[in-house]
Amino acid sequence: MKKYLHFILLFFVATSFAQNKQPKLVVGIVVDQMRMEYLQRFQSDFSENGFKRLMNDGYTFHNMHYNYMPTYTAPGHASVYTGTTPAIHGIVSNEWFHRTLKKEVYCTDDESVSTLVSGTEKEGKMSPRNLQATTITDELKLSTNFKGKVIGMSIKDRGAILPAGHFADWAFWYSKTGNFISSSFYGKTLPKWVEEFNNEKQYLPYLEKGWSLLKPIETYNESLVDNNPYEGKLYKKEPVFPYDLKQMYENNDAGVLRVTPFGNDVLANLAKRAIEKENLGKDDVTDFLAVSFSSTDYIGHTFGPRSIEIQDTYLRLDLTIADFLNYLDKTVGKGNYLVFLTADHACAENSTHLKDHKYEVDNISYKEVSKDLIAFSNETFGANLLLKYDSYNVHLDKEAIKAKGLDLTKVKQSFKDFLYTKNYVKRVYTEEEILASSGNDQLLSFVFKGYDPTQNGDLYFVYKPGFVEYSATGATHGSPYAYDTNVPCIFYGWNIPKGKSHDKKVITQIAPTLAQKLKITLPNGTNSEVLNEILEK
Ligand SMILES: [Zn+2]
Repeated sequence: MKKYLHFILLFFVATSFAQNKQPKLVVGIVVDQMRMEYLQRFQSDFSENGFKRLMNDGYTFHNMHYNYMPTYTAPGHASVYTGTTPAIHGIVSNEWFHRTLKKEVYCTDDESVSTLVSGTEKEGKMSPRNLQATTITDELKLSTNFKGKVIGMSIKDRGAILPAGHFADWAFWYSKTGNFISSSFYGKTLPKWVEEFNNEKQYLPYLEKGWSLLKPIETYNESLVDNNPYEGKLYKKEPVFPYDLKQMYENNDAGVLRVTPFGNDVLANLAKRAIEKENLGKDDVTDFLAVSFSSTDYIGHTFGPRSIEIQDTYLRLDLTIADFLNYLDKTVGKGNYLVFLTADHACAENSTHLKDHKYEVDNISYKEVSKDLIAFSNETFGANLLLKYDSYNVHLDKEAIKAKGLDLTKVKQSFKDFLYTKNYVKRVYTEEEILASSGNDQLLSFVFKGYDPTQNGDLYFVYKPGFVEYSATGATHGSPYAYDTNVPCIFYGWNIPKGKSHDKKVITQIAPTLAQKLKITLPNGTNSEVLNEILEK
C-alpha cells in the first residue's frame, strides 16, 4: 500500500511538472500608439484588475524603446515579433515607394491571394509575404511540428498579419463592412465561427449607443479640456462629448468603429471566441494568440495624447483587459498562460501645443517638402531630378541624372545641402553614409537599423526633435526620439517573476526572450540580448 501511495505521489509530481514545463497559451498584446507614460498618468483612474494587475503581479520594463526609425505600425509589429529591425525584416514602413520596384507598395499587399469575404476584395488581398524574417510565432510552429496553433487578430490588417507570421493558422482583420476578414493565404473559407461572429454584427449596438465618457468629466484632470485647439474633428464633428456614432455610421460605414474605444471591445470579444472555438490553450502544446488593439492609434491621431478622448479610451481598454484576463483565468487557468503587452510605437506631442508654450517647433506638410525639393531641382539643374519624396526618403531619378550627364554624388550632395537650409532638418544622410554607419552617431544608428538599400531612398533625413510631418491637429509618430520610442513592456503569468526594471531595453529583445523562455529556436533575423530579468536564474 505504501509503495502504491508513493507511485500516486510520483504520478502527481510528474504531471504537474509536465503542465508547467511549457505555457498552454501565449497571448501577445500590442496596443497601437501606446506611450509608456499612459500607465503612469492614468493610473489613479485604472481598475485593480486590468493594467494594474499586469504591472503588480508581472514584470514591467519602464524604459523599453524602439531602436530604429521610422516608428510606424507595420515595422513596429514586425520588429516585436521578429526580434530584428526593418533593415533585416524588410518592413520599412506601412506603405512606401519601393526603390527597386519603382512603385508604391503596402506592407501586407499580396496580389496573388484573394479575400474570403465578398464585398472586401481590396481589403482582403493581404498576406505576410513581404516580411523577410521569421517571427517568434513562426518558430513556435516549427518547434511544435506545426501542432501549436497560431492566430493573429486586429482591427488593422498589418496588426494581425505580421505578428502571426508565415506559418499562421489564421489572421483576421476588420473591414469597413463591419466583418472580420481573412485571405486565401490562410485557407479556402472563413472558419464557421468567424462567419457566425460576423453575423452577430457586434459593432451595431456600440455605434447605436454612441460614445460618452466612462466617468464624470471633472475626473479627467490628467488631460487638456474637451474641445481644445489641438484636437481634430471626428468625421467632421467638433471634438466634444458625447459623440453620435449612429449618425456617423449611417453617413459612412462600419469603419467608424475603428475610431472609437469600442473597436477594442469587439476585437477582445473575437479573441475570446477564438480561444473557445479553436480550443486555444486546451492541450499541452503551446498555442499563440497575437492580438493588436488599433483603435488607440486612430483616436490618438485624431485627438492627440493630451485629449480626454484618449484618456477615456485607455480607461475603457483597462476594463477590457481586466475582463480578458478574467476569461483566461477561467478557460486556460491561472499560471498556464503567458501574456506580454507592448506597443508598436508611441507618439509625439501636438506641435502647435508645444509652440503655444514657446517651444519653437512646427508641423511640416509632406506635400510642401516634396514641392520644395522639386522647385530646388528645377532651379539648380534645370530639370526635376526627384523621382519621389516619401516620408524621410528622397528618391532621385537616376536615369534623368545620367541622361543629363550629371555626377550622382554631386547631385546627392546638393540635395543634402539644400535640405540643411530647412529649419526642420536635423540630419541628412546619403545611402553610402548609412551603409558605412559605425553605430557611433545616435541618429544614424536609428536610420541604419531601419534602412534597406533595395527599398529605401538615396537620401534619408531626420526631423529635429518636436517637428512632425502631420496636420496642425492631432498627433503622429515616426521619429527616432524618446516620445516615439518609449513604449510599455509587461510580461505576466506563466513563470514570470514579479518586478520592474528602469534599465534601458530595446524592442528587439522581446522575441528572443520569448524564444528562450519557451526553449524554442530564435527567430532567424534576431541579434539581440535577452531580457534576463524574466528568465530563470
Ligand atoms: Zn499611427
